[in-house]
Amino acid sequence: MGPSKNVTECPKCGDKELGIGKHSGYSVMQPDNKMRFGSEVKYIICTACGYIIEGYVQKPAKFKGTRF
Ligand SMILES: [Zn+2]
Repeated sequence: MGPSKNVTECPKCGDKELGIGKHSGYSVMQPDNKMRFGSEVKYIICTACGYIIEGYVQKPAKFKGTRF
């Protein structure tokens, strides 16, 4: 899985200029129950209003087994 190619406009304001941002460094998403390194998170962001349309961790397999 990765960012959807079919997202072409912001569902909030309708702007068509979308950008991609990421969380990395100290802002990684980390597995809740493990002392492990986390995974970078990437976002599809509306460049007009700032709405985050989609977000993805880059290594989703790290989060397996964290929910009971
Ligand atoms: Zn927008």
